[in-house]
Amino acid sequence: MADVLVCGWGELVRGIEETLTFGRKLAFALGGKLGALVLGEAPKGISDLAGHYGATTLDTLSDPRLAGNGADALVDALVQACRAGAPRAVVFPQTFDARLVAPRLAGRLGAPIVMNAINAEVEGGILRVTASAYGGDTHAVYEVAKEGPAILAVATTAVRAEPAPSPTAPTLRELAANLSGVSERIRIIEAASAKGPRLEDAGIIVAGGRGLGAREHFALIEQLAEAFGGMAGASRPLVDDGWVDASRQVGLTGHITRPALYVAVGISGASQHMAGCAAAKTIVAINKDADAAIFKHARYGIIGNCLEILPALIRAARERRQAEP
Ligand SMILES: Cc1cc2nc3c(=O)[nH]c(=O)nc-3n(C[C@H](O)[C@H](O)[C@H](O)COP(=O)(O)OP(=O)(O)OC[C@H]3O[C@@H](n4cnc5c(N)ncnc54)[C@H](O)[C@@H]3O)c2cc1C
Repeated sequence: MADVLVCGWGELVRGIEETLTFGRKLAFALGGKLGALVLGEAPKGISDLAGHYGATTLDTLSDPRLAGNGADALVDALVQACRAGAPRAVVFPQTFDARLVAPRLAGRLGAPIVMNAINAEVEGGILRVTASAYGGDTHAVYEVAKEGPAILAVATTAVRAEPAPSPTAPTLRELAANLSGVSERIRIIEAASAKGPRLEDAGIIVAGGRGLGAREHFALIEQLAEAFGGMAGASRPLVDDGWVDASRQVGLTGHITRPALYVAVGISGASQHMAGCAAAKTIVAINKDADAAIFKHARYGIIGNCLEILPALIRAARERRQAEP
């Protein structure tokens, strides 16, 4: 088995490229090889993707008990794969599911675990993993014990995807595990299904914060988003106060977005909010306080009252749209 194993299941999740990049760099630092492990049915295109990011092996473990992505079966399969292959590190993109699986895997193996990992280095044989902590306010560096594989969950918005300098054609292997004794302790009765476009996929987001002052002013955010051909987002207080639906929330406890353009209106730039938009290519901030933290992240800033600026921006964006051929 590879020295560093990037694991996944179900569909190809956002952040998989970043996780493979993290894994490849870690494998290089350890002087070893990167491999990918898919539990359950392999998603289309995974072999090309794994090779593009430098994996030399692609293992699949396709027991029917893994089809429902139940955490008990996933943990059991991973425990067996790790015991058989003895990788030095097992790496996950930090998805909701991985948050359930990774700590339990570490518990079962008696192995060290770091969540929110953003970087890993090896010095004098010691693995040091940097993790984002306190909602991104600070970084913590962990020296990882050598017992068992290091289990790492990657905060993928803080990592840049970089394809391997020379792509590989991974060797495909089918692994086996005995999951007959596994019974899922949590049964999913109904999965929440989001309808319509998702903030995570939006190329342009206009997000409003408490600086809007009143619920009805959120309409200005929606109008500007529409004029830009994008989606409307919000900071958490607007969701907490019931101004907008939770599906709009950007941030640590909301949606992690990565648009080309993020317009933050009346948003202070708290680290928990920035965790959901800092990876945007261009951030534009509108805030009446010239010292607001959001301006540290913004490429363009407008200092002023958003209730005066927004109508002018909406007009200009609509005119521009109409003028487009
Ligand atoms: C565990 C935890 C998780 C969290 N998760 C999230 C999360 O996922 N997402 C999130 O957003 N927050 C989250 N928060 C809350 C976060 O810490 C901030 O409190 C929140 O982001 C602040 O929202 P805001 O910027 O809209 O409001 P404020 O901090 O109140 O900022 C309002 C801003 O508007 C400006 N303003 C006021 N009036 C105007 C005007 N007329 N024109 C222009 N500007 C004006 C002000 O100068 C100020 O900068 C979390 C907090 C915790 C503890």
